[in-house]
Amino acid sequence: MAVTRATHELLEKALARIDLSWDDARHLLALDVNSDDAYALLAAANRYTRQQSGGRGTVYSQVGLNVWPCPENCDFCYLATKHGIVKELHELTPDAVVARARTFEAAGADEVYLMTTANYPLTRFLEIGQEVRRALDPRTVLVANIGDFGRADAYRLRDTGFAGVYHVYRFGEGVVTEIEPARRRATFAAISEVGLDLRYCVEPLGPEHTPDEIVAQMFLAREFGATIAAVMRRIPVPGTPFEHAGLLTETEVAKIVAVVRLVLGERLREMGVHEPSLLALRAGAHRICAEVGMNPRDLAVDTATGRGRSVADCEAMLWEAGFVHERKRGGVSNGIVPERRENKRETCVATTSGRAAGGEHESMKKWGRC
Ligand code: SF4
Repeated sequence: MAVTRATHELLEKALARIDLSWDDARHLLALDVNSDDAYALLAAANRYTRQQSGGRGTVYSQVGLNVWPCPENCDFCYLATKHGIVKELHELTPDAVVARARTFEAAGADEVYLMTTANYPLTRFLEIGQEVRRALDPRTVLVANIGDFGRADAYRLRDTGFAGVYHVYRFGEGVVTEIEPARRRATFAAISEVGLDLRYCVEPLGPEHTPDEIVAQMFLAREFGATIAAVMRRIPVPGTPFEHAGLLTETEVAKIVAVVRLVLGERLREMGVHEPSLLALRAGAHRICAEVGMNPRDLAVDTATGRGRSVADCEAMLWEAGFVHERKRGGVSNGIVPERRENKRETCVATTSGRAAGGEHESMKKWGRC
Protein backbone atom coordinates (compact mmCIF):
# COMPACT_ATOMS: atom_id res chain seq x y z
CA MET A 1 0.00 0.00 0.00
CA ALA A 2 1.31 3.41 -0.94
CA VAL A 3 -0.74 5.97 0.93
CA THR A 4 0.58 9.47 0.31
CA ARG A 5 2.02 11.37 3.20
CA ALA A 6 -0.53 14.20 2.85
CA THR A 7 -3.48 11.83 3.13
CA HIS A 8 -1.89 9.84 5.93
CA GLU A 9 -1.37 13.01 7.98
CA LEU A 10 -4.96 14.16 7.45
CA LEU A 11 -6.36 10.82 8.53
CA GLU A 12 -4.15 10.75 11.63
CA LYS A 13 -5.36 14.25 12.43
CA ALA A 14 -9.01 13.19 12.15
CA LEU A 15 -8.46 10.07 14.26
CA ALA A 16 -6.78 12.27 16.89
CA ARG A 17 -10.10 14.20 17.03
CA ILE A 18 -8.60 17.38 15.57
CA ASP A 19 -10.94 19.36 13.32
CA LEU A 20 -10.34 19.02 9.59
CA SER A 21 -10.30 22.24 7.58
CA TRP A 22 -12.17 23.04 4.36
CA ASP A 23 -8.98 22.30 2.38
CA ASP A 24 -8.47 19.03 4.24
CA ALA A 25 -11.99 17.94 3.30
CA ARG A 26 -11.43 18.94 -0.33
CA HIS A 27 -8.25 16.89 -0.44
CA LEU A 28 -10.07 13.79 0.78
CA LEU A 29 -13.04 14.28 -1.54
CA ALA A 30 -10.72 14.58 -4.53
CA LEU A 31 -9.20 11.13 -3.95
CA ASP A 32 -9.65 8.61 -6.75
CA VAL A 33 -11.97 5.92 -5.38
CA ASN A 34 -9.59 3.21 -6.59
CA SER A 35 -6.49 4.72 -5.00
CA ASP A 36 -4.79 3.38 -1.90
CA ASP A 37 -5.44 6.77 -0.32
CA ALA A 38 -9.20 6.34 -0.76
CA TYR A 39 -9.11 2.90 0.85
CA ALA A 40 -7.14 4.39 3.76
CA LEU A 41 -9.85 7.05 4.08
CA LEU A 42 -12.61 4.42 4.26
CA ALA A 43 -10.58 2.47 6.83
CA ALA A 44 -10.08 5.56 9.01
CA ALA A 45 -13.78 6.50 8.94
CA ASN A 46 -14.76 2.91 9.61
CA ARG A 47 -12.43 2.80 12.60
CA TYR A 48 -13.73 6.13 13.90
CA THR A 49 -17.34 4.97 13.86
CA ARG A 50 -16.65 1.55 15.33
CA GLN A 51 -14.66 3.06 18.19
CA GLN A 52 -17.28 5.70 18.91
CA SER A 53 -20.29 3.37 18.65
CA GLY A 54 -18.75 0.28 20.17
CA GLY A 55 -19.64 -1.55 16.97
CA ARG A 56 -23.37 -0.83 17.28
CA GLY A 57 -25.67 0.19 14.48
CA THR A 58 -29.06 1.92 14.43
CA VAL A 59 -32.16 1.13 12.42
CA TYR A 60 -34.61 3.97 12.17
CA SER A 61 -37.84 4.12 10.21
CA GLN A 62 -39.88 6.63 8.28
CA VAL A 63 -43.58 6.86 7.51
CA GLY A 64 -44.55 9.18 4.63
CA LEU A 65 -48.01 10.52 5.45
CA ASN A 66 -49.24 12.00 2.19
CA VAL A 67 -48.80 12.19 -1.57
CA TRP A 68 -49.81 15.71 -2.61
CA PRO A 69 -48.40 18.13 -5.16
CA CYS A 70 -45.99 20.31 -3.18
CA PRO A 71 -45.64 24.06 -3.92
CA GLU A 72 -41.97 24.16 -2.86
CA ASN A 73 -41.27 22.73 -6.32
CA CYS A 74 -37.95 21.02 -5.72
CA ASP A 75 -36.61 19.93 -9.11
CA PHE A 76 -35.40 16.58 -7.76
CA CYS A 77 -38.70 15.57 -6.11
CA TYR A 78 -41.53 13.88 -7.98
CA LEU A 79 -44.06 15.58 -5.70
CA ALA A 80 -43.24 19.09 -6.99
CA THR A 81 -46.43 20.67 -8.30
CA LYS A 82 -44.73 21.92 -11.45
CA HIS A 83 -43.81 18.40 -12.63
CA GLY A 84 -47.48 17.43 -12.84
CA ILE A 85 -46.62 13.84 -11.90
CA VAL A 86 -48.98 13.54 -8.95
CA LYS A 87 -52.48 12.96 -10.35
CA GLU A 88 -54.19 11.49 -7.30
CA LEU A 89 -54.02 12.62 -3.69
CA HIS A 90 -53.18 10.05 -1.04
CA GLU A 91 -53.10 10.50 2.70
CA LEU A 92 -52.78 7.96 5.48
CA THR A 93 -55.43 8.13 8.18
CA PRO A 94 -54.19 8.80 11.72
CA ASP A 95 -54.92 5.17 12.60
CA ALA A 96 -52.89 3.98 9.62
CA VAL A 97 -49.96 6.16 10.63
CA VAL A 98 -50.09 4.82 14.18
CA ALA A 99 -50.31 1.26 12.89
CA ARG A 100 -47.27 1.70 10.65
CA ALA A 101 -45.27 3.33 13.41
CA ARG A 102 -46.12 0.52 15.80
CA THR A 103 -45.26 -2.08 13.18
CA PHE A 104 -41.83 -0.50 12.74
CA GLU A 105 -41.30 -0.39 16.48
CA ALA A 106 -42.39 -4.00 16.94
CA ALA A 107 -40.01 -5.04 14.16
CA GLY A 108 -37.12 -3.41 16.02
CA ALA A 109 -36.78 0.17 14.75
CA ASP A 110 -35.21 2.54 17.28
CA GLU A 111 -36.73 5.73 15.89
CA VAL A 112 -39.81 6.69 13.90
CA TYR A 113 -39.75 9.66 11.52
CA LEU A 114 -43.03 11.12 10.30
CA MET A 115 -42.64 12.81 6.91
CA THR A 116 -45.04 15.05 4.98
CA THR A 117 -44.99 17.37 2.01
CA ALA A 118 -44.25 20.99 2.97
CA ASN A 119 -47.89 22.04 2.59
CA TYR A 120 -49.30 19.55 5.11
CA PRO A 121 -51.21 21.40 7.88
CA LEU A 122 -49.05 21.56 10.98
CA THR A 123 -51.97 21.25 13.40
CA ARG A 124 -53.07 17.99 11.78
CA PHE A 125 -49.48 16.77 11.82
CA LEU A 126 -49.17 17.53 15.54
CA GLU A 127 -52.43 15.74 16.32
CA ILE A 128 -51.22 12.64 14.52
CA GLY A 129 -47.80 13.00 16.14
CA GLN A 130 -49.43 13.04 19.54
CA GLU A 131 -51.33 9.83 18.80
CA VAL A 132 -48.18 8.15 17.52
CA ARG A 133 -46.23 9.30 20.56
CA ARG A 134 -48.86 7.86 22.88
CA ALA A 135 -48.84 4.54 21.01
CA LEU A 136 -45.08 4.05 21.06
CA ASP A 137 -42.73 2.94 23.78
CA PRO A 138 -41.18 6.02 25.46
CA ARG A 139 -37.72 4.81 24.38
CA THR A 140 -38.65 4.96 20.70
CA VAL A 141 -37.51 8.36 19.43
CA LEU A 142 -40.03 10.39 17.41
CA VAL A 143 -38.70 12.71 14.68
CA ALA A 144 -40.44 15.21 12.36
CA ASN A 145 -39.53 15.57 8.69
CA ILE A 146 -41.71 18.46 7.49
CA GLY A 147 -41.46 21.89 5.83
CA ASP A 148 -40.07 25.07 7.36
CA PHE A 149 -41.37 26.45 10.65
CA GLY A 150 -40.67 29.19 13.19
CA ARG A 151 -39.83 29.17 16.86
CA ALA A 152 -43.43 28.95 18.14
CA ASP A 153 -44.06 25.86 16.01
CA ALA A 154 -40.74 24.38 17.08
CA TYR A 155 -42.03 24.55 20.67
CA ARG A 156 -45.28 22.88 19.57
CA LEU A 157 -43.30 20.06 17.96
CA ARG A 158 -41.22 19.58 21.09
CA ASP A 159 -44.25 19.71 23.39
CA THR A 160 -46.01 17.11 21.25
CA GLY A 161 -43.19 14.68 21.91
CA PHE A 162 -40.93 15.07 18.90
CA ALA A 163 -37.36 14.76 20.15
CA GLY A 164 -35.76 15.70 16.87
CA VAL A 165 -36.20 17.12 13.39
CA TYR A 166 -34.78 16.04 10.06
CA HIS A 167 -34.00 19.24 8.19
CA VAL A 168 -31.59 19.97 5.37
CA TYR A 169 -30.27 22.91 3.41
CA ARG A 170 -30.22 21.07 0.11
CA PHE A 171 -27.77 21.43 -2.78
CA GLY A 172 -28.98 24.38 -4.85
CA GLU A 173 -31.49 25.52 -2.22
CA GLY A 174 -33.39 28.46 -3.70
CA VAL A 175 -32.21 27.57 -7.22
CA VAL A 176 -33.42 24.01 -7.79
CA THR A 177 -36.07 24.58 -5.12
CA GLU A 178 -38.46 27.49 -4.63
CA ILE A 179 -37.54 27.80 -0.97
CA GLU A 180 -36.10 31.10 0.10
CA PRO A 181 -32.72 30.26 1.72
CA ALA A 182 -33.35 32.76 4.53
CA ARG A 183 -36.55 30.87 5.45
CA ARG A 184 -34.59 27.63 5.54
CA ARG A 185 -31.96 29.18 7.79
CA ALA A 186 -34.62 30.57 10.11
CA THR A 187 -35.92 27.03 10.65
CA PHE A 188 -32.45 25.85 11.69
CA ALA A 189 -32.30 28.74 14.15
CA ALA A 190 -35.70 27.73 15.60
CA ILE A 191 -34.60 24.09 15.92
CA SER A 192 -31.51 25.15 17.80
CA GLU A 193 -33.27 27.69 20.06
CA VAL A 194 -35.86 25.15 21.16
CA GLY A 195 -33.34 22.37 21.67
CA LEU A 196 -34.70 19.90 19.13
CA ASP A 197 -32.13 17.34 18.02
CA LEU A 198 -31.09 18.11 14.43
CA ARG A 199 -30.61 15.30 11.95
CA TYR A 200 -28.91 16.56 8.80
CA CYS A 201 -28.02 15.05 5.44
CA VAL A 202 -25.66 15.96 2.62
CA GLU A 203 -28.28 15.67 -0.12
CA PRO A 204 -29.41 15.24 -2.81
CA LEU A 205 -25.98 14.49 -4.21
CA GLY A 206 -25.48 14.26 -7.95
CA PRO A 207 -22.47 13.52 -10.15
CA GLU A 208 -22.19 17.22 -11.05
CA HIS A 209 -21.51 18.47 -7.53
CA THR A 210 -17.99 19.80 -7.02
CA PRO A 211 -15.82 19.08 -3.97
CA ASP A 212 -16.33 22.68 -2.82
CA GLU A 213 -20.12 22.35 -3.00
CA ILE A 214 -19.97 19.12 -1.02
CA VAL A 215 -17.64 20.59 1.60
CA ALA A 216 -19.98 23.57 1.92
CA GLN A 217 -22.79 21.16 2.87
CA MET A 218 -20.63 19.57 5.57
CA PHE A 219 -19.78 22.94 7.02
CA LEU A 220 -23.46 23.90 7.08
CA ALA A 221 -24.08 20.77 9.16
CA ARG A 222 -21.40 22.02 11.56
CA GLU A 223 -22.87 25.52 11.61
CA PHE A 224 -26.43 24.30 12.26
CA GLY A 225 -25.33 21.97 15.06
CA ALA A 226 -26.28 18.59 13.59
CA THR A 227 -25.77 15.68 15.96
CA ILE A 228 -26.68 13.02 13.42
CA ALA A 229 -25.73 13.26 9.75
CA ALA A 230 -26.07 11.20 6.61
CA VAL A 231 -25.28 11.27 2.92
CA MET A 232 -27.92 10.67 0.24
CA ARG A 233 -27.44 10.44 -3.49
CA ARG A 234 -30.05 11.93 -5.82
CA ILE A 235 -32.28 9.38 -7.51
CA PRO A 236 -32.98 10.38 -11.14
CA VAL A 237 -36.75 10.10 -10.87
CA PRO A 238 -38.50 9.85 -14.26
CA GLY A 239 -40.45 12.99 -15.14
CA THR A 240 -38.18 15.33 -13.15
CA PRO A 241 -35.45 17.55 -14.65
CA PHE A 242 -32.82 15.21 -13.18
CA GLU A 243 -34.18 12.16 -14.98
CA HIS A 244 -31.11 12.00 -17.21
CA ALA A 245 -28.62 13.72 -14.88
CA GLY A 246 -26.92 10.52 -13.79
CA LEU A 247 -26.48 8.72 -10.52
CA LEU A 248 -23.47 8.68 -8.20
CA THR A 249 -22.11 5.20 -7.61
CA GLU A 250 -22.35 3.65 -4.17
CA THR A 251 -18.55 3.68 -4.20
CA GLU A 252 -18.50 7.48 -4.53
CA VAL A 253 -21.21 7.77 -1.89
CA ALA A 254 -19.12 5.64 0.49
CA LYS A 255 -16.15 7.94 -0.01
CA ILE A 256 -18.27 10.99 0.76
CA VAL A 257 -19.75 9.26 3.83
CA ALA A 258 -16.20 8.71 5.07
CA VAL A 259 -15.29 12.36 4.60
CA VAL A 260 -18.47 13.63 6.33
CA ARG A 261 -17.82 11.23 9.20
CA LEU A 262 -14.31 12.60 9.73
CA VAL A 263 -15.11 16.27 9.08
CA LEU A 264 -17.98 16.34 11.59
CA GLY A 265 -15.97 14.28 14.07
CA GLU A 266 -17.08 14.37 17.70
CA ARG A 267 -20.03 16.61 16.93
CA LEU A 268 -21.81 13.57 15.55
CA ARG A 269 -23.48 10.97 17.70
CA GLU A 270 -24.29 8.83 14.69
CA MET A 271 -23.51 8.71 10.97
CA GLY A 272 -25.92 7.41 8.38
CA VAL A 273 -26.32 6.68 4.71
CA HIS A 274 -29.53 7.01 2.80
CA GLU A 275 -30.62 4.82 1.06
CA PRO A 276 -29.05 1.84 2.86
CA SER A 277 -25.68 0.81 1.38
CA LEU A 278 -23.45 -2.00 2.55
CA LEU A 279 -20.39 -0.26 1.16
CA ALA A 280 -21.09 2.90 3.17
CA LEU A 281 -21.55 0.78 6.29
CA ARG A 282 -17.91 -0.21 5.83
CA ALA A 283 -16.90 3.44 5.44
CA GLY A 284 -18.13 5.20 8.57
CA ALA A 285 -21.92 4.83 8.41
CA HIS A 286 -23.73 2.70 11.00
CA ARG A 287 -27.28 3.97 10.70
CA ILE A 288 -29.86 3.10 8.02
CA CYS A 289 -33.57 3.54 7.44
CA ALA A 290 -36.63 1.39 6.79
CA GLU A 291 -39.45 3.21 4.96
CA VAL A 292 -43.16 3.01 4.16
CA GLY A 293 -45.63 5.42 2.59
CA MET A 294 -44.68 8.46 0.51
CA ASN A 295 -41.07 8.91 -0.59
CA PRO A 296 -39.92 11.86 -2.77
CA ARG A 297 -37.45 9.56 -4.55
CA ASP A 298 -39.96 6.89 -5.47
CA LEU A 299 -42.97 7.01 -7.78
CA ALA A 300 -44.61 4.20 -5.78
CA VAL A 301 -47.40 5.58 -3.59
CA ASP A 302 -46.14 3.24 -0.87
CA THR A 303 -42.37 2.98 -1.01
CA ALA A 304 -42.54 -0.35 0.84
CA THR A 305 -43.46 -1.79 -2.58
CA GLY A 306 -40.65 0.17 -4.28
CA ARG A 307 -37.36 1.57 -3.00
CA GLY A 308 -38.13 1.29 0.73
CA ARG A 309 -36.48 -1.38 2.87
CA SER A 310 -37.93 -3.23 5.85
CA VAL A 311 -36.46 -3.24 9.36
CA ALA A 312 -35.43 -6.85 8.79
CA ASP A 313 -33.58 -5.84 5.59
CA CYS A 314 -31.76 -3.09 7.52
CA GLU A 315 -30.85 -5.37 10.40
CA ALA A 316 -29.53 -7.92 7.95
CA MET A 317 -27.43 -5.28 6.20
CA LEU A 318 -25.99 -4.05 9.49
CA TRP A 319 -25.11 -7.62 10.32
CA GLU A 320 -23.44 -8.10 6.96
CA ALA A 321 -21.37 -4.98 7.69
CA GLY A 322 -20.32 -6.29 11.11
CA PHE A 323 -22.52 -4.10 13.32
CA VAL A 324 -24.65 -5.34 16.16
CA HIS A 325 -28.13 -3.88 16.30
CA GLU A 326 -28.94 -3.60 19.97
CA ARG A 327 -32.48 -2.39 19.84
CA LYS A 328 -32.83 0.68 22.01
CA ARG A 329 -35.90 -0.73 23.70
CA GLY A 330 -33.84 -3.75 24.64
CA GLY A 331 -34.60 -7.28 23.48
CA VAL A 332 -33.41 -9.11 20.46
CA SER A 333 -30.60 -7.77 18.33
CA ASN A 334 -29.71 -8.72 14.80
CA GLY A 335 -27.88 -11.72 16.22
CA ILE A 336 -30.87 -13.61 14.79
CA VAL A 337 -29.89 -12.63 11.29
CA PRO A 338 -27.58 -15.52 10.36
CA GLU A 339 -30.53 -17.89 10.01
CA ARG A 340 -32.38 -15.27 8.02
CA ARG A 341 -29.36 -14.96 5.80
CA GLU A 342 -29.38 -18.69 5.14
CA ASN A 343 -33.02 -18.40 4.11
CA LYS A 344 -32.24 -15.54 1.77
CA ARG A 345 -29.66 -17.69 0.06
CA GLU A 346 -32.37 -20.15 -0.86
CA THR A 347 -35.16 -17.82 -1.81
CA CYS A 348 -35.22 -14.97 -4.27
CA VAL A 349 -36.43 -11.69 -2.77
CA ALA A 350 -38.37 -10.98 -5.96
CA THR A 351 -40.64 -13.91 -5.26
CA THR A 352 -40.92 -13.49 -1.49
CA SER A 353 -41.45 -9.75 -1.20
CA GLY A 354 -43.18 -8.95 -4.45
CA ARG A 355 -40.52 -6.32 -5.02
CA ALA A 356 -39.17 -5.84 -8.53
CA ALA A 357 -35.65 -7.00 -7.74
CA GLY A 358 -34.32 -6.39 -11.26
CA GLY A 359 -30.70 -7.47 -11.60
CA GLU A 360 -30.77 -9.34 -8.31
CA HIS A 361 -33.68 -11.45 -9.53
CA GLU A 362 -31.91 -12.18 -12.82
CA SER A 363 -28.72 -13.05 -10.99
CA MET A 364 -30.51 -15.45 -8.66
CA LYS A 365 -32.21 -17.14 -11.60
CA LYS A 366 -28.81 -17.57 -13.23
CA TRP A 367 -27.43 -19.25 -10.13
CA GLY A 368 -30.44 -21.50 -9.76
CA ARG A 369 -31.76 -19.83 -6.60
CA CYS A 370 -35.06 -18.68 -8.06
S1 SF4 B 1 -38.64 17.64 -1.48
FE1 SF4 B 1 -40.14 18.17 0.12
S2 SF4 B 1 -40.33 20.40 -0.03
FE2 SF4 B 1 -39.41 19.73 -1.96
S3 SF4 B 1 -41.14 19.43 -3.39
FE3 SF4 B 1 -40.70 17.44 -2.40
S4 SF4 B 1 -42.08 17.36 -0.65
FE4 SF4 B 1 -41.97 19.51 -1.30
